[in-house]
Amino acid sequence: MNYAEFYNHSVSNPQAFWENEARLIDWQQPFSQALDYSRPPFTKWFVGGKTNLCHNAVDRWIGTQADQPALIAISTETGTEKVYSFTELLAEVNRAAAVMQSLGVAKGDRVLIYMPMVAEAAFAMLACARIGAIHSVVFGGFASNSLATRIDDAKPKLIFSADAGSRAGKIVEYKPLLDEAINLARHKPSHVLLVNRGLAPMKLLADRDLDYSALRQQHFDANVPLVWLDSGDPSYVLYTSGTTGKPKGVQRDVGGYAVALASSMKHIFCGNPGETYFATSDIGWVVGHSYIVYGPLIAGMATIMYEGLPVRPDAGVWWGIVEKYKVTRMFSAPTAVRVLKKHPPELMKKYDLSSLKALYLAGEPLDETTSEWIASQLGVPVIDNYWQTETGWPILSVAKGIEDTPTRLGSPGIPMPGYKVKIINETTGALCGPNEKGVVVLEGPLPPGCMQTIYGDDERFVNTYWSDVGNAQVYSTFDWGIRDADGYYFILGRTDDVINVAGHRLGTREIEESISSHPNVSEVAVVGVEDKIKGQAAIAFVIPRNAETAATPQAKLALEAEIMAVVDKQLGAVARPSRVYFVTLLPKTRSGKLLRRSIQAICEGRDPGDLTTIEDPLSLQQIKAALAG
Ligand code: AMP
Repeated sequence: MNYAEFYNHSVSNPQAFWENEARLIDWQQPFSQALDYSRPPFTKWFVGGKTNLCHNAVDRWIGTQADQPALIAISTETGTEKVYSFTELLAEVNRAAAVMQSLGVAKGDRVLIYMPMVAEAAFAMLACARIGAIHSVVFGGFASNSLATRIDDAKPKLIFSADAGSRAGKIVEYKPLLDEAINLARHKPSHVLLVNRGLAPMKLLADRDLDYSALRQQHFDANVPLVWLDSGDPSYVLYTSGTTGKPKGVQRDVGGYAVALASSMKHIFCGNPGETYFATSDIGWVVGHSYIVYGPLIAGMATIMYEGLPVRPDAGVWWGIVEKYKVTRMFSAPTAVRVLKKHPPELMKKYDLSSLKALYLAGEPLDETTSEWIASQLGVPVIDNYWQTETGWPILSVAKGIEDTPTRLGSPGIPMPGYKVKIINETTGALCGPNEKGVVVLEGPLPPGCMQTIYGDDERFVNTYWSDVGNAQVYSTFDWGIRDADGYYFILGRTDDVINVAGHRLGTREIEESISSHPNVSEVAVVGVEDKIKGQAAIAFVIPRNAETAATPQAKLALEAEIMAVVDKQLGAVARPSRVYFVTLLPKTRSGKLLRRSIQAICEGRDPGDLTTIEDPLSLQQIKAALAG
């Protein structure tokens, strides 16, 4: 079957198509109905079926490859490396599950995981999946305010954390940030489980904080029965930034997600049992969920969890890992490649990379230079793929497992199975013609694996993402795009106020709210501006309450540093603006709406666009003057 036939079948008869794909995983009880779309846009996949993500990722492989590597945890920060076979992984997951159960965690309870890239983080996720608890992993780079918002929304019974992470040799203490977050939050977890890596001292709060290693020891021989879940039960909630200050809890199911991952691992990532997969992301992001933890394991592959930088101790470090563990498929982000490109290529060439079959890049636009450079260095296909936290797996790519479809530079590719991708006019909703710019939307029903809803807020899910276009209900990706005459899509940036820094999605509203909490900030605008390495960088324009505090260059620098420190403390360094400029006016419409796109255009040296509604044109002069220094 060629790809066109395969894809057409997926959209013309989704029931039959996904019924067939569902055979890629184990079901404890078969489903009676592949798709229920009786209450659009809510989509139920594999109704009546019972399964379990942990079973499919771990237990299932004990029969055929018990002693083969399952999880390879490497930290170039602490100089540690440990390989867990499927048997050892199962034992660790059982211990973690037993510890959680001993603390009263049961099906449907939320467990918040705030961890560095250590094996225990994966054990915790899989343990939740095993007992039907809903995990919510919060990226370790986020700080107390971000964490507190998520605690209040997810209301976890238990928080799983650690003393510290390490980045570029610098210890990042997690416990004080966590303590502060719990103080700030209205909801209080019953317990906090802490992995002590011996990196930072921890004060344990009596009755609440528990040392994981002691409890693990008590449950060393635990054998925790799998809790078989309905296909539509929630498996996890992962928060992502939007246009408001309140992140959205993307909720995913069990059965649909397992099938989508198994299907994408086969057709897009072409992974086979016994091989090794290396995704360089973090468990705090969706790639970490889908393609560090669940996807590769569901495909029977060994997966690498890596704590460290791509260039430390030198830019050969990843390639040494590829050689040592015979990695066949690797997944990273364009920013990482741009960082590597600044280092001598010999460091990469030192290693035998003959096991590697393809490099997958995602999370942000892949420019042609970066793509061509890494392809020539590695001598393997570089496969761009476009998707979102909300979809959980690629919307656009090429499915080399079905057909050797050529890639096209600058394009992430063509629609993947089940995705009915359309480009529509922003105002009229009319379908755009070839090469005509519009909004990238997906016609419902969304394929398996995509978000079920926003956690606890069905109404927000419908209102945020869905609209009626003609007689179809469509999901907006909030990305601009075009489709060329041959059916290849090109992504042209966000339609909303979300920015993408080094592949990390950040809401400008969240950063603005954090900056506003500085006592000397009266007003602020944050925009994403083109950056050669990170794709985009956040830049802030601030109106200080007391203009004199930003009157001299030294005073400006001092206030800028203070504001950056506030963001670091509240949201985390990941959200820190790269520059803070001071003005006395911000460009707004007469109705008071910030003209972020005009500010962004000026920062990037472009025309600021239609300014008929601007309140005071002088504000734009101020932006220009501030940038000119
Ligand atoms: P996240 O939910 O954090 O994965 O961010 C998703 C957003 O990142 C998308 O809506 C796009 O704006 C952007 N994005 C992800 N992958 C790509 C890609 N391959 N090419 C261009 N933009 C991408």
